[in-house]
Amino acid sequence: MAKEPLVLQESLENTFASNVFSDAATRTRLPKNIYKMLRRTIDDGLPLDPAVADIVANAMKDWAIEKGATHFTHWFQPMTGITAEKHDSFISPTPDGRVIMEFSGKELIKGEPDASSFPSGGLRSTFEARGYTAWDCTSPAFLKDNTLCIPTAFCSYTGEALDKKTPLLRSMQALSKEAVRILRLLGNTKVTRVTTTVGPEQEYFVIDKKLYEKRLDLILTGRTLFGAKPPKGQELEDHYFGNLKERIAKFMAEVDQELWKLGVLAKTKHNEVAPAQHELAPIYTTTNIATDHNQLVMETMRKVAGHYGLVCLLHEKPFAGVNGSGKHNNWSMSTNDGQNLLEPGNTPHDNEQFLLFLAAVIQAVDEYADVLRVSTANPGNDHRLGANEAPPAIISIFLGEQLTDILEQIENGGATSSKVGGELKLGVTTLPALPKDSTDRNRTSPFAFTGNKFEFRMVGSSASIAEPNTALNTIVAEILSRIASRLEKAKDVDTEAQNIVTEIVKKHKRIIYNGNNYTDDWVKEAEKRGLPNIKSTVAAIPTLISEKTVKVYEKHGVLSKAEMHSRYEIFLEAYIKTINIEALTMLDMAKRQILPASLEYAGKIAATLSSLKTVASKSSTADKLLAELTSTIDSFGKNIEALEAASAGNGHSNDVLKHAEYYRDVVFTTMAKLRVDGDKLEMMVDANIWPLPTYADLLFRV
Ligand code: ADP
Ligand code: MG
Repeated sequence: MAKEPLVLQESLENTFASNVFSDAATRTRLPKNIYKMLRRTIDDGLPLDPAVADIVANAMKDWAIEKGATHFTHWFQPMTGITAEKHDSFISPTPDGRVIMEFSGKELIKGEPDASSFPSGGLRSTFEARGYTAWDCTSPAFLKDNTLCIPTAFCSYTGEALDKKTPLLRSMQALSKEAVRILRLLGNTKVTRVTTTVGPEQEYFVIDKKLYEKRLDLILTGRTLFGAKPPKGQELEDHYFGNLKERIAKFMAEVDQELWKLGVLAKTKHNEVAPAQHELAPIYTTTNIATDHNQLVMETMRKVAGHYGLVCLLHEKPFAGVNGSGKHNNWSMSTNDGQNLLEPGNTPHDNEQFLLFLAAVIQAVDEYADVLRVSTANPGNDHRLGANEAPPAIISIFLGEQLTDILEQIENGGATSSKVGGELKLGVTTLPALPKDSTDRNRTSPFAFTGNKFEFRMVGSSASIAEPNTALNTIVAEILSRIASRLEKAKDVDTEAQNIVTEIVKKHKRIIYNGNNYTDDWVKEAEKRGLPNIKSTVAAIPTLISEKTVKVYEKHGVLSKAEMHSRYEIFLEAYIKTINIEALTMLDMAKRQILPASLEYAGKIAATLSSLKTVASKSSTADKLLAELTSTIDSFGKNIEALEAASAGNGHSNDVLKHAEYYRDVVFTTMAKLRVDGDKLEMMVDANIWPLPTYADLLFRV
């Protein structure tokens, strides 16, 4: 890796989490009994005593001010998918005209941002603007730009969730409750809490800022709306894990430094498959913190890129024809006595606890595949899922050879053995023999078991990971709850556990697929198996308000029917707005950049032709070019008119779903046609006249 300044390396142990009001900081600054009371809330989920909040607030303020902070903010995650903050300073006037720095428990616990400008999906009318933020003490406060940021949940005056964190916390609580029930029945008397853990791998593109600024599409929509295929794409596969360019290496080093200060366990960084594409992976942590951290990762990458004349693109599909970006959501469950519930151990075939939890995940994913699908749906991700790119829109589970074999044994009457990986000999005596994993990887699966966790790969690169994890926790909690109820009634828990696993394998094995998910054969096979193939965001969103989904979310106290309906509205409206902005941006570029340039060039050829003709030497090349150019310009012009008509909206409807369908089926489709002509023009027009940086510029000139 790039040379990082030595000083920083040496002091890393000191700088790590230096901008976090961490557990260590909390412990040293709080009286022992207060610290204990706070920990009980964080670790055991007990309600927080308001007296404790006052003392914590004061300690937090002192810590922050010592580090130069002047302001504090309740940091929250509204339905926009990004974070929001409203800064207040610590100052408080004294009677003698001075100020002192103050921060009370009340200010720590509760904030009151005006909620009327955040999406609520009809949960609240604008005249009822009150919204509240509530301190989430399970995620540590941190310092950013001289501001103490306090992670909070955001709700309406009537207590409905207006954010992504509230349902996530509720789903973690639900899963914990059901998992503990099962562990108790299996004889574990110590465990009191189960937390879900997540390590999200973040993919992104980095391009040159000067070039970026010449592209209205990138500025306004985050993706290129025009752009012909470059002579070189990703076909040489020379970028994946390739050497980092110096400017990129410096950028990455600073990102790491900044993230480490914020306590984010940034661990791995490398080039991805597509040119200009990279990945950052942190070490996993509690889902709630991982979600907050992932927001900080995205924010930090965007900010730091600017220091190097770069721009970080988090859109799922900035460039057509090269891979898009996703987030691999590595997920597991762990107990507060230190066990990973998805750890198979050496002999998974006789690991009852592992098999039960594994079976629960299998059933949950099969029964609620549509819930997982919608949790990853957004307009950007439509260019990946179901659009001939990784991963497909069909959800299936990859288990690998060892577990698949065990489940087959179970189905056929009982598992008696576990295949082992053995040793890998490289045929050179000086190279070590490597212990072989029991299973190879499968990069095409949307939901893959990878040793001791599941990797959910459908999540979009720009999205918050709150939704997919809320979905995952909720549906797994549901199956665990059913399993627990059966075990509670059973005379013999072990026999019943075996019965349950066998039944689940038989009933839900259709969701298991170890082959190549990118083939047409799989699409056909999946259809035969009855697995849903939901191809677009608009088609996915109605799942949110189906009776089945609402029932499971309500049962586990994750989201109420009203909250689900509000999300349905918010997501559909966001879809409509996104496509509308893209359409208008395309029109702007088409009319004010591409068309004028193309006409200018056509005029030049025409002039050349007529001057050539006067010397009586006809140019058939120029003739042909002019003919093709003018006909493409005409077609382009017609498609401009078509897109103008489409986005002016004859098909608009008061029904938000129909309206969104119109945008998908009419506006979006017309955009694709306009792009074909625009890209054709790019291949014809003189490079000196063409007004936009090309794909080759954007992808290779970093
Ligand atoms: P890949 O081979 O998929 O690129 P990486 O090593 O880049 O894998 O990322 C794997 C991720 O999975 C890391 O973020 C890692 O911390 C995370 N992970 C490992 N164990 C667990 C676990 N028990 N729960 C959640 N995430 C985990
Ligand atoms: Mg991965």
